[in-house]
Amino acid sequence: MAPQEHVVVIGGNFAGLACAQQIHDACGDAVAITVIDRKDYLLFIPNIPGDVFANRDPAAGQTMKLRPALRRDAIRFIQGEVTAIDPEVQTVTFLTSERPGAEADSIIYDYLVVALGCELSFDRIEGFAEHGHSVTDLYHGERLRRHLHEGGYKGGKIAIGSAVFHQGDGANGLEPYPGGLFPMARAACEGPPLEVTMSLATWLEEHGFGGPHLLTVFTPAPIIAEDAGAHNVEKFLTLAASMGVNYRNNMGDIRRLTAEGIEFENGGFIEAELKIVFPDWRAHAFLRDLPISDSEGFIVTDLTMRNPDYRNIFAAGDCAAVTVPKLGAIGHQEAAIVARQIADDLGCGPPGQGSDQLEPVMVWIGDMGGGKAFYIRSNVWYGGKDEVLELGRVPYELKMRYRDIFLARHGRVPDAALQLAQFAAETV
Ligand SMILES: Cc1cc2nc3c(=O)[nH]c(=O)nc-3n(C[C@H](O)[C@H](O)[C@H](O)COP(=O)(O)OP(=O)(O)OC[C@H]3O[C@@H](n4cnc5c(N)ncnc54)[C@H](O)[C@@H]3O)c2cc1C
Repeated sequence: MAPQEHVVVIGGNFAGLACAQQIHDACGDAVAITVIDRKDYLLFIPNIPGDVFANRDPAAGQTMKLRPALRRDAIRFIQGEVTAIDPEVQTVTFLTSERPGAEADSIIYDYLVVALGCELSFDRIEGFAEHGHSVTDLYHGERLRRHLHEGGYKGGKIAIGSAVFHQGDGANGLEPYPGGLFPMARAACEGPPLEVTMSLATWLEEHGFGGPHLLTVFTPAPIIAEDAGAHNVEKFLTLAASMGVNYRNNMGDIRRLTAEGIEFENGGFIEAELKIVFPDWRAHAFLRDLPISDSEGFIVTDLTMRNPDYRNIFAAGDCAAVTVPKLGAIGHQEAAIVARQIADDLGCGPPGQGSDQLEPVMVWIGDMGGGKAFYIRSNVWYGGKDEVLELGRVPYELKMRYRDIFLARHGRVPDAALQLAQFAAETV
């Protein structure tokens, strides 16, 4: 038997798990795979907001154990904090995170897949700890749930929006569609603010707080969620305005949160009792200044998700420079490309399967409360031609069923189910 190539995947959430599973499927016995993550569960982030407004602790239903999922494919798992990558000697250094005080250890790779996501920089927003809320993780989700459902919220105005995102230069010059490009995003991911706005509109009415006129959704950009396509956003904003939601654009960066509201760098102010904020998505500190990283620490790849200088290093998911906006659906597309690239290198499967390149498609299903959701599919921001927006009960059912299938099948959602979901959302 030929010696196995060692593939090390760092990060085991959506992008990391998908890469590990798809490399396993594509390469079989030609590879030995190790996944390293600081936690031993997958966090199903997209469904945290729904739990918050439905008064469920998200910790009860939005996690999946990683170890059994990986064991099914004989993938080794190390629970550790990755602290360094050395692309020259092909090592990853980590500290096992089961108990404090662990020794630094290293592992050698033949192929490295970086899928570490990003830091969410709440610590850079002055006043967030005292006055801010969010839904980005179990802690912040549960904190907001308790605030809303246990009497913390008194019925005042609510502001929802994002801080400025500092995108690096790593995707400059790439052409994902003929004549297209990766534009510079002013916010990292503006689906969540839209989703939270619509869900809160329903929640306020259901809980006798008056309704959507209390809400202001804001953006640092000229247009919120511009990556979703200008026509989609226009339709969305028309709907929100008809409900009474206030909209403020071009707000620039957040300066600080106070008890009274949100102050912006440009001197603007939004009055709000409740401030739900999405921070800057920043690259992990140890990735900065590596020869594989861009000006902000995101991993540079070409459209095959390979680093141009270190051809055995790949990236997928939020940590990749080409993943804008920071969206799990794009990471999913990238994972399939990574697996086919490595399989092609190793002569596994039909030759030439690694010839496909990233053509990012922004897919988003946002909970609106009351059993409804909005569905967006678009690639026009990158130079493509598709732009779809649907609203109703079918997208909501798809969002819930996707999560159920994902968890029940240990992260393996069949392509046929995804195609059926697209068909259902766009035609039913
Ligand atoms: C509220 C909200 C709702 C969202 N809804 C959607 C949606 O509906 N659809 C969608 O497509 N996207 C959605 N997103 C975006 C989506 O959550 C992210 O794009 C996705 O989680 C990125 O996956 P990832 O695996 O690249 O990174 P992450 O999910 O951030 O995972 C990174 C992994 O790396 C690990 N890690 C990080 N640093 C280290 C280290 N030093 N050592 C070891 N391990 C480390 C982490 O523990 C984690 O497991 C939403 C985001 C938010 C905040």
